[in-house]
Order: sequence, then structure tokens, then C-alpha cells
Amino acid sequence: MKKRVAVLGATGSIGKSAMDVLRDQKDRFQPVLLTAHSDAKGLLKLKEEFPAALTALSDSASAEGAQFDFLGRDGLLNAIAVCEADIAVNGISGAAGLEPSVAAIKAGTYLALANKETIVMAGRIIFALAAEKKVRVIPVDSEHSALFKLIEAHGKDNVSEIILTASGGPFRGYSQEMLSRVTPKEALAHPTWNMGPKITVDSATLANKGLEVIEAAGLFGFPPEKIKVAIHPQSVVHSMVRLKDGAVYAQMSKPDMRLPIHEALTWPETVYSPFGVLDFASLSLTFEKPDLEKFPMLALAYRSLSDGENLSIAYNAANEIAVEAFLKEKIEFLEIPRIVGYVLESVNAGERLESLESIEAILAADREARKMAEDLIWSKK
Ligand code: NAD
Ligand code: MG
Repeated sequence: MKKRVAVLGATGSIGKSAMDVLRDQKDRFQPVLLTAHSDAKGLLKLKEEFPAALTALSDSASAEGAQFDFLGRDGLLNAIAVCEADIAVNGISGAAGLEPSVAAIKAGTYLALANKETIVMAGRIIFALAAEKKVRVIPVDSEHSALFKLIEAHGKDNVSEIILTASGGPFRGYSQEMLSRVTPKEALAHPTWNMGPKITVDSATLANKGLEVIEAAGLFGFPPEKIKVAIHPQSVVHSMVRLKDGAVYAQMSKPDMRLPIHEALTWPETVYSPFGVLDFASLSLTFEKPDLEKFPMLALAYRSLSDGENLSIAYNAANEIAVEAFLKEKIEFLEIPRIVGYVLESVNAGERLESLESIEAILAADREARKMAEDLIWSKK
């Protein structure tokens, strides 16, 4: 029997890679639901190619008369609930991906999770719900996909620390003065990965690695001091584990998101894939320490991870608002960490919330932090 697959955010960067994996393994996978937010044209094209799959467009205003099976945010959540998928690739960008993850787990659908915000915002609740529904959450983020496989291979009890690699982004080695002048266009030119705009800017500020440190803590249950980051500009080693005896094991492949998506969709089997195959002929790998002073978003992530769940939510929310403002040229590049730092301080000065007990409470904390960031941006104009 074919695995029934939903692709959430099918028109985005992760979504396109997921569709390639489905095309590559037609005898194994059947697409049953394809979703997009506002790219009606892109979704219609997929509908032509996969007429048996249901379609959902979450921004109903963008449909412009085109026919989809489900419309609007509620339509998207309903579609996930009724499509009877075995596994859903969640490639929705940002906090908007959290509720779709919850809807999938509630429907008993496994998650191939690219949307790191799901874990950053609600890791504890997500895993409790997944355990209740007997659903597995398999990470797709390349570093976490690597760690998932490495920890599975070596046994968590034998792992003394995990080491996430980071490309360092396009501004690695820039001076403070150079950083103060970078434009959205420069921030959107990533040296090794081809991704959506939000995560590409996050790679330039190192906020992406910050989110991934929080994601790793949520997925694998290591404390902050056992989660390390190494800058590795070639993006060939996707992460490493250090075992108790000191030996370090690494996962290597070409930087191509189709491989971790393929791995998540075929887990727990290991199935032939044409993606990510490395050519060692001209490979030279380097590693260096991250510069936390020049890229404070990483330091802020570690701090928020230690300071309580609502701080991780605020980190993500304030960053989303700041990145959007940077892309619209309302603020400068170096203001992104300033805004996030300010919001974290304000939230920290308030009530200390160790654990938020519902998705509604998490979404409220998310809204509050967004508003703080927006107010700050507007007060400057
Ligand atoms: P993207 O912007 O290219 O695509 C986002 C997709 O989500 C699109 O299909 C869009 O239609 C949909 N979407 C956007 N807003 C939505 C909303 N409000 N409701 C429902 N759907 C919405 O983003 P991406 O680069 O593919 O990233 C997606 C997620 O995967 C992010 O969480 C990112 O951090 C993570 N991720 C991406 C990569 C990568 O290589 N692109 C790697 C690792 C992790
Ligand atoms: Mg990653």
C-alpha cells in the first residue's frame, strides 16, 4: 500500500523539494492533500499534475475564482483533519505552521516537520499530544534530521553533546560597519542553500541557528550547555554527536533538502535516493567558532532557552516581525537583534511563565510579543 502524504506549504521551497521526492518515489507515495497560502497559480499547477489530491488555499482572497477543495485558515485545518494522510510534510513558514501541526497530530497523521516554529513555540505540548495519539514527529530541518539519525544509531544515553553546524550565512567575517549597511537583497543571497525569504534572512543574522538550538532542545531533550554550534561554511556536515568516550560522529551529504524530506517520509526504512550524493573529489571542510558579538541572535536564543518557554515564543515572534520590517526596508539589518533583545527584556521583566498549558496560551504569548515588536518599530518612524 502506498503511503498517503499531505504537503503543507506545497508551493514553497520545502514544498517544492517535497513534491520532487513524491515524483521520485511514485510507487511508494500518494499525495492526498496539497496546500498553499496565497500562491493560487502554483497550487493550480500542482492540482493539474496530481488531480487525485485535495487542495487547500489558506488565503481565500487570493483564490480569484479558481476552484479549490478547501479555502481559508479553517479550510486548511479541516482539510488536514479529513484527508486521512499517513504523514504530513509541514513546510509552512513561521508561526502559522503551529496549528496545522496540531491538526495533523490530532488526526493521527505522522509529521515530517520542517516548520521549526512548531517545536520552538510548543515542543512540550506537541510531544505530549503526539504520545497520546501514537504519532511520530520526524524532523526535516537538515541539522535535526542528521541528529535524529545519529542519536537513533548511537543511543541517546551514549551521547554527551550535540553539535549543530551552521553555514554562517552571507555575512560571515563582515565587520560591524559592513553589517550596518547590508540590504535585503544581500541578505537574501545565501551562499549554500536556496530557501524561502524569512529563513534566508535568519541565516544571515544567525537567528535560524538560534531557532534550531531551541528546536534541538525540544526535539532531543538536551540542556542548553550540551547543544553546541560550529560554523561550517560548506554545509556538507549537517550535524554531529559527541559520544561519552569523546568520539564525534557526523552526517554528511550535499546541501539538498530533498534528502532529509526523503528520509523523513521513508523512516524507519532506509531507501535508495538520488538526492544529496557527495562527490569527495574536490571537498575541503572547515569549522570555526560562531562570533556571538557580531551575531547576537544566537546568544539571545540561548538566553531565551534558559529563561522559560514564553521567552522562546517571544524570540520567534519578535524576530518574525523584525525580519518582515527589514525586508520592507523599514528597519536596518542590525536593528533586528536590537528589537528582539528589547522584546525579550520586556517579557522577562513580566510574569515568569515556566510552562504554557495550551496552544491558545502560546498563541496569546506570540501575539503579545508581536505587538511589542510592532510598537517598537512604529515608535521609531
Ligand atoms: P517558503 O516561504 O518558501 O514557503 C512557505 C510555504 O508556506 C508556501 O507554500 C506558502 O504558501 C505557505 N504559507 C505561508 N504562509 C502561510 C500561512 N499563513 N498559512 C498557511 N500556509 C502558509 O518557506 P520555506 O523556506 O519552504 O520554509 C518553510 C519552513 O521550513 C520554515 O519553518 C523553515 O524554517 C523550515 N525550513 C526550511 C528550509 C529550506 O530549505 N527552505 C530548511 C529547513 C527548515
Ligand atoms: Mg536547518
